[in-house]
Amino acid sequence: MDLNLSNLRHGSGSENADIKKVKVLILGTGPAGLSAALYAARAGLEPVILTGMELGGQVSLTYSVENYPGFPEGISGQEMVDLFQKQAERFGAQIEYDTAIDIDLTNRPFWVKTYQAEYLAEVLIICTGATAVNLNVPGEKEFTGKGVSYCATCDGAFFKDKDVIVIGGGDSALEEGLFLTRYARTVTIVHRRNELRAGAILQNRARKNPKIKFIWNTVVSEIKGDKVVSGVRLKNIVTGEISDRPIDGVFIFIGHAPNTDLFVGKLELDEKRYLITDKRMRTSVPGVFAAGEVTDSIYRQVITSAGMGAAAAMQATHFLENAESEKVFKEENPDAVKENQP
Ligand code: NAP
Repeated sequence: MDLNLSNLRHGSGSENADIKKVKVLILGTGPAGLSAALYAARAGLEPVILTGMELGGQVSLTYSVENYPGFPEGISGQEMVDLFQKQAERFGAQIEYDTAIDIDLTNRPFWVKTYQAEYLAEVLIICTGATAVNLNVPGEKEFTGKGVSYCATCDGAFFKDKDVIVIGGGDSALEEGLFLTRYARTVTIVHRRNELRAGAILQNRARKNPKIKFIWNTVVSEIKGDKVVSGVRLKNIVTGEISDRPIDGVFIFIGHAPNTDLFVGKLELDEKRYLITDKRMRTSVPGVFAAGEVTDSIYRQVITSAGMGAAAAMQATHFLENAESEKVFKEENPDAVKENQP
């Protein structure tokens, strides 16, 4: 495919010789981004993928992924990302350790500025993911992956017959808390109010589950341990009472935020700032596709994100083929083009 990228109009207004011209630029190297890279590379589009701040995204922090088909014994999140990366690179995907910091979607090719370069991309696939909201208390960072987790589906099985707490009162906290009862001996939900935010069905199921207990009006002010988590410090925000509680695991579900700051005012976002896409992974700007958790507040699984990434790359391939056919048609039929002009 020979794409004409000569009519450049970004940056200072004149053509910048250092600008990198690419057919497909993918933002993000989580499962969605790396799967999009694999499909785009196999379609001969030589995609460039910007890692963002963290190669691999959220899954790279997961101790073991046991629900991705093909790995019956499970695989560490980091190992899985390495395999995804190798497979995409094998077909010509180029990974850049860089992050997009500015973007102009008003014209195609799209202009993207990173810390180290500028790009003009015929097609953009946004896979910037979401970030679990942190509690920001002492011990949280230190014990992440060592008893502190943001994913019950990923890590729950490590807490068989253990006592865990779940922080949060929304759908995620209850849903993941219920999932944890498959393994854990007790699941204590610590919520900062005395009323749950979660929907009624989940609330009923959680209240009826004999393994689930609630601690109300309480926040976790510290996570303690040595090599792994051994307890938490709790603070009742009504009485001010402080108490220490021994615990094996701390699951934090106080919300996820999609990484969409860069796209505000440039692409349509929903009320929770997720990118809006249609079934074909198209955003509100033709030629810009999105996949994975940046557009998915529901499933948030490696397999669903990878599937969306593949779909986005397939759609991007069709888009470029159509754009090329249109260009050839216009070149071969200049009169038809003139006739259609207003
Ligand atoms: P969420 O609805 O925003 O709930 C976050 C919870 O964390 C709230 O209970 C909030 O307390 C608490 N919280 C926030 N910051 C906190 C802090 N610093 N310290 C302690 N607690 C804190 O988030 P979510 O549960 O992840 O759900 C996100 C979206 O996905 C929602 O729209 C939800 O309906 C949807 N979802 C749906 C399902 C389902 O339908 N099965 C499953 C999962 C998620 P307050 O209540 O006091 O604000």
